[in-house]
Amino acid sequence: MARRLDRGSRLVLASHNPGKLREIAALLAPFGLDVVSAGALGLPEPDEDAPDFVGNARIKALAAACGAGMVALADDSGFCLAALDGAPGVHSARWAGPGKDFAAAMARANDGLEAAGLGADRRAWFVAALSLAWPDGETASFLGRVDGTAVWPPRGTLGFGYDPMFCPAGSVATFGEMAPGAKEAISHRTRAFAQLRAACFG
Ligand code: IMP
Repeated sequence: MARRLDRGSRLVLASHNPGKLREIAALLAPFGLDVVSAGALGLPEPDEDAPDFVGNARIKALAAACGAGMVALADDSGFCLAALDGAPGVHSARWAGPGKDFAAAMARANDGLEAAGLGADRRAWFVAALSLAWPDGETASFLGRVDGTAVWPPRGTLGFGYDPMFCPAGSVATFGEMAPGAKEAISHRTRAFAQLRAACFG
């Protein structure tokens, strides 16, 4: 059973991605934690060289917890396409290159779908792993997923990353067209967070 975090505890958010920081801060808001970002503490971004989401989330959470000497929460997440055997997956950020060009990353994903042909499988999903790490090396990790369809062209200017080309199952709007609360109600990050909350908060 994972250790728990009490109200008022200090917590480092081990992400430098503004979209993720915004969404995780909203999820954490009801819990009365004293949250600071890794960027605000000047912590470096470690290499994410694990083969899966949980492995990378643990790397980031442990690096921040050890660097800051306090509990850290990290997210590793990505966009997955069935027709591309789950790619870009853990390489989702890398597909956008150093300039973080997600229009180019989405175009590459769509090129992959077009190469797969007219009848290509358009099933897509987002995965988020959330890892909480303590400075003594203990970690607790949780995985969430939301399924849907890849659409083209991208639609909507809300959200971040691959949101404009993902339509969650049962919705006509893409994540890029959904207000933050609507995405938060069903997102992969929210689903991972629900497990983390039950195991570690309060
Ligand atoms: P990483 O976890 O830092 O490796 O980055 C994951 C990448 O996946 C992000 O840069 C986004 O491009 C993408 N991603 C993860 N979660 C979401 C989301 O909720 N919406 C859109 N893109 C996402």
